[in-house]
Amino acid sequence: MAAYELIRHDYDVAVVGAGGAGLRATLGMAEQGLRTACITKVFPTRSHTVAAQGGIAASLANMGPDNWHWHLYDTVKGSDWLGDVDAMEYLVRNAPDAIYELEHYGVPFSRTEQGTIYQRPFGGHTTEYGQGPPVQRTCAAADRTGHAILHTLYGQSLKKKAEFFIEYFAVDLVMSSDGVCQGVIAWNLDDGTLHLFNTSMVVLATGGYGRAYFSATSAHTCTGDGNGMVARAGLPLQDMEFVQFHPTGIYGAGVLITEGARGEGGYLTNSEGERFMERYAPTYKDLASRDVVSRCMTLEIREGRGVGPEGDHIYLHLDHLSPEILAERLPGITESAKVFAGVDLTRDPIPVLPTVHYNMGGIPTNYWGEVINPTDEDPDAVQPGLMAVGEAASASVHGANRLGSNSLTDLVVLGRATAIRAGQTISPGQHRPEPDTESVSCVLDRFDRIRHASGAIPTAALRVDMQRAMQRDAAVFRSSETLANGVAEVCGLAGDFADVNVTDRSMIWNSDLMETLELDNLLACAVTTVVSAEARTESRGAHAHEDYPDRNDDDWRMHSLAWAVGGEYGLGYRPVHTETLTSPEMGGIDPAIIEPKARVY
Ligand SMILES: Cc1cc2nc3c(=O)[nH]c(=O)nc-3n(C[C@H](O)[C@H](O)[C@H](O)COP(=O)(O)OP(=O)(O)OC[C@H]3O[C@@H](n4cnc5c(N)ncnc54)[C@H](O)[C@@H]3O)c2cc1C
Repeated sequence: MAAYELIRHDYDVAVVGAGGAGLRATLGMAEQGLRTACITKVFPTRSHTVAAQGGIAASLANMGPDNWHWHLYDTVKGSDWLGDVDAMEYLVRNAPDAIYELEHYGVPFSRTEQGTIYQRPFGGHTTEYGQGPPVQRTCAAADRTGHAILHTLYGQSLKKKAEFFIEYFAVDLVMSSDGVCQGVIAWNLDDGTLHLFNTSMVVLATGGYGRAYFSATSAHTCTGDGNGMVARAGLPLQDMEFVQFHPTGIYGAGVLITEGARGEGGYLTNSEGERFMERYAPTYKDLASRDVVSRCMTLEIREGRGVGPEGDHIYLHLDHLSPEILAERLPGITESAKVFAGVDLTRDPIPVLPTVHYNMGGIPTNYWGEVINPTDEDPDAVQPGLMAVGEAASASVHGANRLGSNSLTDLVVLGRATAIRAGQTISPGQHRPEPDTESVSCVLDRFDRIRHASGAIPTAALRVDMQRAMQRDAAVFRSSETLANGVAEVCGLAGDFADVNVTDRSMIWNSDLMETLELDNLLACAVTTVVSAEARTESRGAHAHEDYPDRNDDDWRMHSLAWAVGGEYGLGYRPVHTETLTSPEMGGIDPAIIEPKARVY
């Protein structure tokens, strides 16, 4: 075994991640009386959640009629019938309470004239089960909603005496020989020490893996570390082929322009000045769901109606809105447009392009946040000692396509549920077996091997090859040919990781080593994404397969599972939960309303 001193900590719970999901779970765990360590590689308020602009969805009905049945219908339809209906019902029913809870914690939401929480329209959110006008359901703090939520949750967690391990990089899970998660090993970036957290429960809240692609709206820290740890523990990842492209990343820079911009009246045009979304989605136009708008933009560009000298992007117009509205409702993107596109929003359109934004897939869980490790007998079997929440998880409340502003709802509603469930399944200070020494040495050996890696390929070179392959072969539109290329290329690159080169051997602030560990995690995400995508011979939500353009519910209304270690992988499937939680007699939705049908906006 590699010789490293391990500093031992005993906690009831270790939450890995301090974004919206990790902080809401941490706060809830502390409220349950569980001794909780929150481990995070960046300072909590630098987590990617801070960048969320547009808002958080809940049927408060502050701006007009709304109810959770409508929100459920929109979410099921948005998911293209791949989401788990029980989880989606739990999400939308608990959303209003979660918003009031945030309000009471101190989130400074924008206000209506009456003093209630301001709500804006967002893509795919409608009234009357998709028959009425767009609904105003997305609660906003100007265009800095994630910032407001993250700062508030961090303050509340400190108040509840949760303990933080900041700038600690979680390396791997410790698993007992009979498959129970017993804790996690983390590296303190600041002083180079290694730490073993022995726990009754680990919660992975490590966020998405947008950085597997070349152009993404997500932070450079979004490297799918929790997914990588799960894959190395021999557990599956779910629905990884569903990668959301946001229609409006700034051309070139990839920086996000929130969908709230279209919610406030913004619209897209092609080189002929045409508002082309009217042609594709006659009812909801620019407020159709994201996968739909991204595909329409891509088609316009392909058919020669893109804008700019290369004809390779689209314009987003906000120049018809009054400068007062822009200053009050969209101050952040007014600034982003100026800095990243050199555009004065009050006069000119913003050049935009669909950009990787969100991962619907991740660590499979139920809506209590318990990780699922299916067996032949039980497709919903729970993995002891391990939970996951937020973008790292696949609950699956977003199915094949997430509706804008439903992710922040997911973080707080399921973050809270995770803590409630942990309060039921473990007790404070309960007996914990000694961590498995074989597992611990396996983790340390891998860490040491990568630290001393002296192969021929620099980390940055391997990373950019992976990012370009993903961007090219697993894009808005995929085909059998691009996916076969993608599988060969990405699995080959994962194999090349054995020949990676780390130049810095030190333990203190060794960013070369950290980026290499992150790359290994990204490769696990990239492999599972392309192999799941190649296998799925249909089009559904964000997975638009050119050789199989139709959705095929008979064969494919099921979750993909993918296992990956190195360049090797395996595939499997588990059923979608199609039952609601509440019967119509008890006030639930009529199941006939959410039966699969053609998805038009
Ligand atoms: C630009 C942008 C705008 C968005 N706008 C909206 C919006 O308006 N509405 C909406 O609903 N959704 C929005 N989304 C999506 C939403 O913000 C994210 O899905 C969500 O914030 C993810 O939260 P999270 O808590 O799961 O992860 P993150 O906020 O990404 O946090 C991950 C945490 O994990 C920690 N971590 C990761 N790896 C390790 C490791 N190895 N060791 C230790 N710690 C680790 C990090 O330090 C961090 O604290 C937006 C996303 C982007 C990128």
